[in-house]
Amino acid sequence: MGQETDQSTPDEFAKAARCMSEPPPPRHNVESGEYNHLLERYKALAAIEHIDNPPPLVIVESPFVGQSGANGTTKNVAIRSRLLQLLTDAELDDTLAHELRHVAQQRSNQSFDSSEGSEEDADKAAVIATGNKEATITGLNKIASEQIKEVIAKMEKCFGDLSEEQIEKLINDQKAFLKIRTNAIKNVDLLPGGQGR
Ligand SMILES: [Zn+2]
Repeated sequence: MGQETDQSTPDEFAKAARCMSEPPPPRHNVESGEYNHLLERYKALAAIEHIDNPPPLVIVESPFVGQSGANGTTKNVAIRSRLLQLLTDAELDDTLAHELRHVAQQRSNQSFDSSEGSEEDADKAAVIATGNKEATITGLNKIASEQIKEVIAKMEKCFGDLSEEQIEKLINDQKAFLKIRTNAIKNVDLLPGGQGR
């Protein structure tokens, strides 16, 4: 952040957003070969979540974790290639199940009250689909710790060195968000010995 963030105009915000944003990374459809296993898991999880004709799964080639995503009108579900290196199979299952829930949300135009945002809803649906709270929470934490490093690096590149206080605030804000999501996951009732629902 610059010294004069108090006087930021919308124009400056736009400039900052441009500086922070990455160019769109190349993506490719997951059809066969090295991603077969991932595609099988994706289809299996879609069936568990009762999602017919799940959108194509695409891998986004990116050195960043960023976020996986179920885009707009669910044209596809995108997983960043960096996630494939960072996460175990169980944690990846959870990521796929989470994004599939966003597909269901978008298809049903479901709205969420303030006590439950779409992220918590997707986390809960994912843990029910995979039946693995531990992997869900570990995966979330791994992604969060990569993301905070990436955010700090990008901000320093755009705005110069951040102060200790600024870095601490970023980390604390993220920890608070992570705590909300982790608690939502812990509170899911799973049926003993298997999947919930
Ligand atoms: Zn999400």
